Amino acid sequence: MPATIPDPRSAYWSAKFPPQKQDYPGWTEEMRPVPDHGEESYAGSHRLDGFVTLITGADSGIGRAVAVAYAREGADVAFTYLPEEEGDAAQTVQLIEDAGQRALALPGDLQDEGFCTEVIAHVVDELGGLDVLVNNAGFQMAQPGGMEDISTEQLEQTYRTNVYAIFWLTKAALPHLRPGASIINTTSIQGYHPSPSLIDYASTKSAIVSITYSLAQSLGDRGIRVNAVAPGPIWTPLQPPTQPVGKIEEFGQNTPLGRAGQPAELAGSYVFLASPESTYVSGTVIGVTGGRYLA
Ligand code: NAD
Ligand code: MG
Repeated sequence: MPATIPDPRSAYWSAKFPPQKQDYPGWTEEMRPVPDHGEESYAGSHRLDGFVTLITGADSGIGRAVAVAYAREGADVAFTYLPEEEGDAAQTVQLIEDAGQRALALPGDLQDEGFCTEVIAHVVDELGGLDVLVNNAGFQMAQPGGMEDISTEQLEQTYRTNVYAIFWLTKAALPHLRPGASIINTTSIQGYHPSPSLIDYASTKSAIVSITYSLAQSLGDRGIRVNAVAPGPIWTPLQPPTQPVGKIEEFGQNTPLGRAGQPAELAGSYVFLASPESTYVSGTVIGVTGGRYLA
């Protein structure tokens, strides 16, 4: 009897999405359909027992799916979110605690260096250390008109959130990271195949690839691994507020697998990169793109 294996084209929602718009930053329960973070499907097997982990932007989307997986693998999970995302953050806390792990929810703005430094201090004080830092929070705002429509304010928000915060969090974390610890950055297919409407965002994602490569070189002799995950189009609250009206319906349809990905489909890569299964993996980017290649 051949095993029953899921068809990747239809394993998750594969139809066009209903038209929808939200104000930024977007809320999980207002999405149609509501994304899948692995709530019903992710089964842990002690791959991160006793780890202390920090995930930025884990109230929702990819970060929440990683939080669910890390907690079910036996890790305590601290995470950051924006103050207006309190409702989503409370749900992530519940999911971590339901897995029997400690949750630490830290609201604030990662564009502020002081907040980034405080986050690391809080995690170390309250959870007793730090083994895995997942730099996942990110900002994008599509500008179909291109370069001339990217305000200096938007440029700053995109760079401070996506790039500066990685420097600030990583600098504050390094004194606490022991050999065996790892840093995992969320980049994007946009870092390799930039869209004309996301010039600022795509350039931050290329920068994150470069930071991942150079940090892996610089931290190898301290026994700290650095890797990244490059998602393709993933169904998260980032999309309805930041894509032009009329674009959301087609979201993900142009991938080889013909659909958008769900946050749950990302979790395995972040677990692999954090766990001792990947002790010889550093300086690598894993693409989770529905078939589009990374250059
Ligand atoms: P999401 O909106 O669910 O998560 C992003 C989170 O970033 C937000 O929940 C918010 O808490 C946080 N954030 C944004 N600005 C912040 C700030 N100034 N201070 C503190 N926190 C802030 O969306 P997501 O898609 O899960 O995004 C997670 C990561 O995945 C981002 O880096 C994004 O660029 C990346 N990504 C997403 C896709 C996609 O299609 N959804 C594709 C490639 C890469
Ligand atoms: Mg959110």
